[in-house]
Amino acid sequence: MHHPTRYDVIVIGGGHAGTEAALAAARTGARTLLLSHNIETIGQMSCNPAIGGIGKGHLVKEIDALGGAMAHAADRAGIQWRTLNASKGPAVRATRCQADRALYKAAIRYMVETQPNLELFQQAVDDLIIEGGRVCGVVTQMGLTFSARSVVLTAGTFLAGKIHIGQAQYAGGRAGDPPASTLAQKLRELPVAADRLKTGTPPRIDLRSIDFDGLDEQPGDTPAPVFSYLGSREEHPRQVSCWITHTSERTHEIIRGALDRSPLYTGQIEGVGPRYCPSIEDKVVRFAEKSSHQIFIEPEGLDTFEIYPNGISTSLPYDVQLALVQSIRGFEHAHITRPGYAIEYDYFDPRGLNPWLETRAIPGLYFAGQINGTTGYEEAAAQGLIAGLNAALSVQGKAPWYPRRDEAYIGVLIDDLTSNGTIEPYRMFTSRAEYRLHLREDNADLRLTERGFELGVVEQTRFDALRAKRDAVERELQRLGSLWISPTNALGAAVQRQLGITVTRETSATDLLRRPELDYARLAEVAELGPALTAEDVVAQVEVQVKYAGYLERQREEIERQRRQEHLPIPAGFDYDKVRGLSAEVLLKLKRSLPATVGQAARVSGVTPAAISLLLVHLKRRN
Ligand code: FAD
Repeated sequence: MHHPTRYDVIVIGGGHAGTEAALAAARTGARTLLLSHNIETIGQMSCNPAIGGIGKGHLVKEIDALGGAMAHAADRAGIQWRTLNASKGPAVRATRCQADRALYKAAIRYMVETQPNLELFQQAVDDLIIEGGRVCGVVTQMGLTFSARSVVLTAGTFLAGKIHIGQAQYAGGRAGDPPASTLAQKLRELPVAADRLKTGTPPRIDLRSIDFDGLDEQPGDTPAPVFSYLGSREEHPRQVSCWITHTSERTHEIIRGALDRSPLYTGQIEGVGPRYCPSIEDKVVRFAEKSSHQIFIEPEGLDTFEIYPNGISTSLPYDVQLALVQSIRGFEHAHITRPGYAIEYDYFDPRGLNPWLETRAIPGLYFAGQINGTTGYEEAAAQGLIAGLNAALSVQGKAPWYPRRDEAYIGVLIDDLTSNGTIEPYRMFTSRAEYRLHLREDNADLRLTERGFELGVVEQTRFDALRAKRDAVERELQRLGSLWISPTNALGAAVQRQLGITVTRETSATDLLRRPELDYARLAEVAELGPALTAEDVVAQVEVQVKYAGYLERQREEIERQRRQEHLPIPAGFDYDKVRGLSAEVLLKLKRSLPATVGQAARVSGVTPAAISLLLVHLKRRN
């Protein structure tokens, strides 16, 4: 095939950020090239074979709402599905699936290979071409050059990657893959602030060497949830169970006895690790009072015997890994197929990025994924989509776009990173969002799909599906609101008979649905109330919008108020000592970061909403 050397957008790296970036750019019509080390590893899950979870599932839905690939791939690869927090409110309910690693990769590769305007080329990128301060292309390992108006870098854990297993260390991008050392060196010469982070992964185990007797089986939910708004349960492959076991006192003794050979504790690893995904040695040290930690035994796929023991990520020497694994119930005779390891890599301070993920230092150069200090496939994919989209918009002479904090978790992620930076691998949690009730998994399409369509990353069929859903919800809400049920009419009698509810005054079907003991399915049992809907997504939407109407309205007002404050200026030279009631900590932080607006002040980490209220009172008094 003839490869033209001029593109609109070049994406470096075929991981989760890179594939979404390349697909998004190509969807907008930009001529896009995806350059990666190895076409066989496109869409590879470097660590655990799972997609979604609390906060992360929200990101997957938002990526899907913007036309992305991750939810589709998960639907085709998910072999055990669960809705987490199912008994809690709709804001924190989250979808998670265990994925067949090979099926996931194949699904992503298929989407990349069949995407119009997108070409693939297998080659390591060793350098960027920068002219007049602007990026204008890349140079590969073989010395080939490709030019483009925008370049998106998504090198993951590969930049100067160093793998540690006990005291042994070697250069690598992840186990089995080479690092990107030359590129890392070249990037260190650019005016972007780099530092080191680390992450780790557990040893893998042969399922046939595990004794499952007495271990807890954890089947998936039935019916299984679905990730994509356009997806269906029928796409899911065969379903399997996960299992649960625990570490023992003996495991912890083995770990404590080997800390002097742990690269984490001997100072060999300098990078900071993910606080929320700690290694087992970290957990044993930090939570010394706990005598046991839970381990999920997760299948790696349908056609493999490897399992992923989730919860024992480690970089201890191999002999210690074997001993600690075999001290765990069910793993007494476990055969390790791949040792666990830690990896240290370069990342860049995300405060050097505009919120549309273009570097401030080098116009045309975008960064996305793990290299911005995040951890996780979903966080990477979300950034990739935004970077790829904006790389293309810029080529097309259009204004950049990114969602606000009140529109999407993607907005929260980007705002947290670009305003506050991060000193440890950043992962998403629902607690990071202040407008959780608005940012639900069930309404990501209502929040984002229309905007995505206008921007050119959402295809017509998806937009049509959104419109149909939105109309159906609207019609049903109106219908329920106009159904009047009174103690004296036929509807009242039917409700009384079927639901055992005494109707004492005139009320609408909407009011009935608002009652905690009733849901849509119950109401639908009353035939006299008219034809009930069956589309699950529409029903779910109607229920949430009715039941949480009051809370949603209050949050909407709060968002409005916040938006007005966002741009309220704090004058230069403002004297924070004059603001009454601020704690010493808040005072210090505000004086150090000198925010230009109240919105920025509110996002300085450690500055509480209460402190912002005090600041507002003071600012108003001055005026
Ligand atoms: P990656 O998935 O790393 O993809 C980078 C891609 O870029 C690769 O395809 C690579 O070949 C390509 N590439 C790199 N440099 C070049 C170059 N110069 N030229 C061409 N191609 C290049 N996440 C968690 O949430 N929890 C965990 O516990 C966890 N543990 C992890 C443990 C390990 C050992 C590793 C390696 C990763 C772990 N992760 C974990 C992180 C997760 O794998 C990443 O967050 C995610 O893969 C990041 O996606 P990405 O697209 O940014 O980068």
